Amino acid sequence: MSEIEFLGALGVELLRHGELRSEHPDHELFQTSTVHALLAGAFDGDVTLAEILEHGDLGLGTLNGLDGELIVLDGQAWKAELDCTLVRADASSKTPYAVVVAFSPGEPVALTGPFAEADLEAHLGERVSKATRPTAIRIDGRFAQVHVRSVPRQKPPYRPLAEVIAQQQVSVLRDVSGTMIGFCFPDALDGIEMVGSHLHFLTDDRTRGGHVLSYTLLEAIAQLDGATALHVELPEAVAVPRHGSPLDQAALHRLESDR
Ligand SMILES: [Zn+2]
Repeated sequence: MSEIEFLGALGVELLRHGELRSEHPDHELFQTSTVHALLAGAFDGDVTLAEILEHGDLGLGTLNGLDGELIVLDGQAWKAELDCTLVRADASSKTPYAVVVAFSPGEPVALTGPFAEADLEAHLGERVSKATRPTAIRIDGRFAQVHVRSVPRQKPPYRPLAEVIAQQQVSVLRDVSGTMIGFCFPDALDGIEMVGSHLHFLTDDRTRGGHVLSYTLLEAIAQLDGATALHVELPEAVAVPRHGSPLDQAALHRLESDR
């Protein structure tokens, strides 16, 4: 099976910026670039947030220069600064990596804690654990604590993501209400995605947020949307992803964790 056939079997379509369409059917994920490219330091993309928002109303990512953590919720784009302060993101800014979906969830799932991030998939059950396609996730609720991080804006020449994440700043939000947004990606998307759960958080009062490292959930409502397709826009500098040369996901998750 060729790379393209393999990706096609997963419902993945690759396209370049000139091929972007502004349609956004429900359940279809739209993404710019790949985790593989981001790891290698490809921190400048060619898609604006305005274009991202044409393709979905819920998602996550970062901004060019790795300038903070991007959070898209209810069609609004927010940026978590290095100290995890939240600001509205400028629609004209570009992103080197973002994933969004026109969120169209099924029946809500009540979650009763307390439990930590390692137990989320067990609480969501087969809706995500057996999934062979990506699942978009929205969790609104109360948390005893959420550890979030953001990263400092970089200047070219860019260093690999691992070196930049060593400079991450972690904020601990205690006794907080808010929303976690993100995706659970199946192993088959290794190279394109950080497989497993990838969540960003923002508080109900929209003052704080960031990339989620860990949390203790008390009580929440989860909404899930199983994706039927993944459209990946590749900036000119980013090559077609190859399977068979998987990322070191264990190392990636160590990077992504504060434990
Ligand atoms: Zn993130």
